Amino acid sequence: MKKTVTVVGGGAVGLTVAWTLARRGSTVTVVDPRPGSGASWVAGGMIAPYSEAWPGEEELYRLGVESLGLWEGFARDLQPYADGPLVTSRGTVHLAVDEGDAADLQTVADAVGDPAVFAPLRPSAAARAVPGAAPRIRAAATAPDEISVDNRLLHRALRAACAAEGVAFRAEEVGGAAALDGLPGDAVIVCAGADSAALAPGLGVRPVKGEVVRLRRGPTCLPPPTVTVRARVRGRQVYVVPRADGVVVGATQYENDRDLGVRIGPVVELLDDAFAVLPFLREYEFVEVAAGLRPTTAGNVPVIAPLGGRVFAATGHGRNGLLLAPVTGARAADMVLKQEVQAWS
Ligand SMILES: Cc1cc2nc3c(=O)[nH]c(=O)nc-3n(C[C@H](O)[C@H](O)[C@H](O)COP(=O)(O)OP(=O)(O)OC[C@H]3O[C@@H](n4cnc5c(N)ncnc54)[C@H](O)[C@@H]3O)c2cc1C
Repeated sequence: MKKTVTVVGGGAVGLTVAWTLARRGSTVTVVDPRPGSGASWVAGGMIAPYSEAWPGEEELYRLGVESLGLWEGFARDLQPYADGPLVTSRGTVHLAVDEGDAADLQTVADAVGDPAVFAPLRPSAAARAVPGAAPRIRAAATAPDEISVDNRLLHRALRAACAAEGVAFRAEEVGGAAALDGLPGDAVIVCAGADSAALAPGLGVRPVKGEVVRLRRGPTCLPPPTVTVRARVRGRQVYVVPRADGVVVGATQYENDRDLGVRIGPVVELLDDAFAVLPFLREYEFVEVAAGLRPTTAGNVPVIAPLGGRVFAATGHGRNGLLLAPVTGARAADMVLKQEVQAWS
């Protein structure tokens, strides 16, 4: 059944939900004072459920694997709206520097439990897969089915795709939980990222701040890796995600911190770790450091659920909101379209 729906929040999650509902015939309005100002603009862009696997996070893992399966079709349907290739690389290579790092990598491999999708790699094979990588690698692994995407092209493509499906945009801030009642439609969906806490405090969504660095390849530099490189460097993690013209290096992590200022010490450590495994990045040009807030729940699993009356939530995607966008769009649309229509007055 077609419905009239208001989506609160125009990040990657809100726009995917809006686009999915509009493609299924609903009349959709996105309310956001600054679409694309949140975590979706900052993210590294890894679509990487296997690399993210960890004991105790089985539900998140299953959801991530399901969403990865939807990503090819999602990217194919969005590509006509994008200014460049959305998918920037295929495959992830993990590098572990010391024995503790190698043990952590084994923990990931055990959590996945399927060498077809996450397999050990000989250091010599890792060196071939990542030209220019430093030679001192204790262990390596590969996740060949993972991809990475350009998060900013993705957000712009989603906006254009929504507009093409007739989604309306209202540049307004929804001023708290009580204001949700004043929004029109058969359904209102809260997709406000880390700010969802102000609109639906019961969800327990908290901000986990993260910083990423963007570097551009200079004219005399080695090209960016053709795979995502994730490294464990003496107990710390760093990732290097290819872009058309450079890389994104991430990410720092601070619990319950809403301050979007950049802390230089942790960012320098992040770059030190990236240079330890990919020394040629030292020659790249610095472009920017950006900070964002991962909208995180207690169990690291997003909330895609009715909140009562005609209000729903699709939020709390933590460190995996881009990965989980397609499955969230599908589930949120099913949830809203199957709900009995409740008259709005
Ligand atoms: C450093 C970093 C690296 C990351 N890397 C990855 C990665 O590699 N892969 C991955 O899958 N995920 C990654 N993530 C996580 C991912 O970015 C998030 O999970 C995802 O962007 C969340 O999308 P969202 O649309 O829910 O929230 P956001 O993108 O934060 O958007 C929320 C939107 O809601 C709007 N809003 C807020 N309050 C209101 C209100 N009251 N009224 C109206 N509008 C409102 C905001 O203006 C904003 O536009 C990363 C995150 C960070 C911070």
